[in-house]
Amino acid sequence: MKLYSIFSLARNALNYHKDWPRAWRSPEPRPEYDVVIIGAGGHGLATAYYLAKEHKVTNVAVLEKGWLGGGNTGRNTTIIRSNYLQDESMAIYELSRKLYEDLSQELNFNTMFSPRGLLMLCQTEHELRAMKRTNHANRLAGIEARMIDTAEVKRLVPIINDSPNARYPILGAYYQPRGGTGRHDAVAWGYARGADSRGVDIIQNCEVFKIIRDDDRVTGVETSRGTIRAKKVAVVTAGNTSPLMQSAGVNMPLESVCLQALVSEPIKPVIDVVVMANTVHGYISQSDKGELVIGGGADAYNNYSQKGTLPALEHTITALVETFPIISRLRTMRMWGGIVDMTGDRSPIIGKTDVKGLYVNCGWGTGGFKAIPGSGFVFADTIANDRPHPIAAPFGLDRFLEGRLIDESVAAAVAH
Ligand SMILES: Cc1cc2nc3c(=O)[nH]c(=O)nc-3n(C[C@H](O)[C@H](O)[C@H](O)COP(=O)(O)OP(=O)(O)OC[C@H]3O[C@@H](n4cnc5c(N)ncnc54)[C@H](O)[C@@H]3O)c2cc1C
Repeated sequence: MKLYSIFSLARNALNYHKDWPRAWRSPEPRPEYDVVIIGAGGHGLATAYYLAKEHKVTNVAVLEKGWLGGGNTGRNTTIIRSNYLQDESMAIYELSRKLYEDLSQELNFNTMFSPRGLLMLCQTEHELRAMKRTNHANRLAGIEARMIDTAEVKRLVPIINDSPNARYPILGAYYQPRGGTGRHDAVAWGYARGADSRGVDIIQNCEVFKIIRDDDRVTGVETSRGTIRAKKVAVVTAGNTSPLMQSAGVNMPLESVCLQALVSEPIKPVIDVVVMANTVHGYISQSDKGELVIGGGADAYNNYSQKGTLPALEHTITALVETFPIISRLRTMRMWGGIVDMTGDRSPIIGKTDVKGLYVNCGWGTGGFKAIPGSGFVFADTIANDRPHPIAAPFGLDRFLEGRLIDESVAAAVAH
């Protein structure tokens, strides 16, 4: 891999930037691999990267039906935080947040991690109590966080409506100073480049139709580019996981729904933190280009359409307008949707299955961008050693059989 640096930038400037090498290859699929990963979203690519880097497993293919990073990874609103309630969740999300801190250096690719601070508004007494509880749990787990009062919220977010007469007045907020955002595409591209340079084949435009088993063991996959044999197959396909796993005879406790977001026209800087308003269901941050990035709750029905709809948009904007009056004056520039995969307890599934050699990583629902580095790290370890990494172990499929659920429906109320 050619290093990106100030020197390579200067060298390439002399040639009018015509000689930059491609960031990754486009290889033809080989007939057989040690590991086939289905899905080149952030989680699949990070898994491939850590398999190659940490475990020296390089005979790996990542198969992607579209283009890499074109699923939810390229459609999300890029919020990074680790303020979940349960110990198991805090462990994986905080591991991930810490990996984000140095990810640009690790990948030699600017992932634009911006720990600008994250606020979760408390707009009812109930929410204030719930966030205090989360704050205590986070601090006990060593996560830097604190509760702040209305005056400090106003200082951090001058555009907020702090009137005590608002329908949902600001009673305070939970504050995670090292929460923030990153550049979603860059995370996918950085992991892709790092994995490719270590020998991983990333094969785009290659849809997997079926997972092939021989009795109780996985043997490969049928794809739009022919059959590919594999000793191990890892399914990392977010909202498309259920049909694919069914082809291997495994039913997943998942539902797929559309989650939507939008950006406004670009404006001068007005907000330099991330604000989530869970009671009214909406959240807001400002991108480096100046657009306000706005998202809300998931659709109430199952769906595979990857499209935004006007009623959902209207609902989110209506919810936010009273809290941020200036957004009523803005024009919407783009809106879109992604198909997210939700479990009943709103926690992910990471681990082995009853089929030997078949692994699954899914159920990140509306909040898996923040988890990409940590998830890839523990999933690669799980695949390489054929046993769950200790941080992944609680998230196995067996928790649904044993009733050992990891309930994050509160922390994940607007789970981004
Ligand atoms: C609007 C929106 C806002 C969000 N906001 C946030 C946020 O602010 N913070 C946060 O942490 N999370 C957020 N999320 C959630 C986050 O985007 C996802 O949890 C995360 O990107 C999942 O990554 P992934 O790699 O598992 O899935 P994806 O990125 O969806 O990757 C899966 C890949 O598998 C491919 N695939 C599917 N089926 C097949 C097949 N049969 N053969 C080959 N390839 C296949 C797909 O094309 C896709 O590229 C948001 C999601 C949406 C939609």
